[in-house]
Amino acid sequence: MIYLDNAATTMPYGKVVEAVTGCLGEDYGNPSASYSFAHEARSSVWKAREALALLAGSDADEIYFTSGGTESDNTAVYGGAMYGLSKLRNTAPSFSITHDRHPYICGPKPSVITSKIEHPAVLNSMTRLEDMGFEVIRLDPDSEGRISPSDVSNAVSDRTVLISIMHANNEIGTIEDIASFGRIAREHGILFHTDAVQTLGHEHIDVKEMNIDLLSGSGHKFHGPKGTGILYVRRGIRLDPFIVGGGQENGFRSGTENVPGIVGMGVAADIAARCMDSDRQYISALRDRLFKRISEKTAGVFLNGCSLDTGNRLAGNLHLSFSGVEGTSLLIRLDMRGICCSTGSACSQGGDRPSHVMSAVCKDSERIRGSLRLSLSKFNTESEIDAAAEQISEEVSFLRSVSD
Ligand code: PLP
Repeated sequence: MIYLDNAATTMPYGKVVEAVTGCLGEDYGNPSASYSFAHEARSSVWKAREALALLAGSDADEIYFTSGGTESDNTAVYGGAMYGLSKLRNTAPSFSITHDRHPYICGPKPSVITSKIEHPAVLNSMTRLEDMGFEVIRLDPDSEGRISPSDVSNAVSDRTVLISIMHANNEIGTIEDIASFGRIAREHGILFHTDAVQTLGHEHIDVKEMNIDLLSGSGHKFHGPKGTGILYVRRGIRLDPFIVGGGQENGFRSGTENVPGIVGMGVAADIAARCMDSDRQYISALRDRLFKRISEKTAGVFLNGCSLDTGNRLAGNLHLSFSGVEGTSLLIRLDMRGICCSTGSACSQGGDRPSHVMSAVCKDSERIRGSLRLSLSKFNTESEIDAAAEQISEEVSFLRSVSD
């Protein structure tokens, strides 16, 4: 098998598996218990919190553990909008909420700014806000998937309560100018959330320097366990908890902690912090090689997203379109040869709907249909890349020959 779907999930490090297994075995204490056997679990969870804080550039007590990127995004968008609204109501009481089973907005509509290329975890949370009475402004990207800071600036009004724009796109790999969005948000006193699921553990992040108030991350995207994630919440911001109960995570996210997952994610974070720069160099060189090899052997190949030589693209992302080829047919034929890749986001797949991301950056339906996402990791080798390029080119030629 050649695994080229690392944007969907990554292989856990051996050390992560060891750490998870340890917590499932003899170190099974409940971190909330008061006897000394539980101290080990409590201090392991704290160590993981420190490792995640290092990746985000935050303090450890600003990191909350969640079940993954989806929960973090839901909590940030809903909680952030409600927090922003409560701040607005302090200065402008005409913004009001009725508490009739659910909070519904009446009076002037508070406004939220996002983009059209967010992950469904954000997009669908936005739809819920809209159902509750918020106005949602969804900004268009340019043809490379970039959201313009001036568009963000122009969308801000005295009704804006939250800006939520992803750090990097999970399909086409474009890295957004989140430092500029953060600056705009801070200048206007608006909360800024970024979905950093594709970048945490891969790209340098400094929540303080970048003026980020809320940040979502996911453990399984950087060789940690699935079902683990974080939400960074800047000190001083009080979001309504999404999950209530026994008051774990400082009252923010109740439920006995997923100690094996958290500890495993902490080990992955520790490795990521140490190896990030060299990994990025290695992975981007492999990605460039893959593109070169495929382009040498195949005509009619288009690169989607930013060009490879800019710093605005995830190191492991190669998103291509092949003229005259259906991406889904190519995917199936590559799967039969043991090559794992994707036509879009694994988390949002199902059905044959064209990708909302490709549809937002490109008007050419053939190019949208003919797209393939190859996403690499540090575990890929040059020989795998050469073999994959050869087989992709063969399958593209085959599919073109049968559709003629
Ligand atoms: N946000 C982005 C950008 C993603 O790529 C993903 C998953 O692919 C998610 C959110 C959801 O993360 P999780 O799988 O941890 O729920």
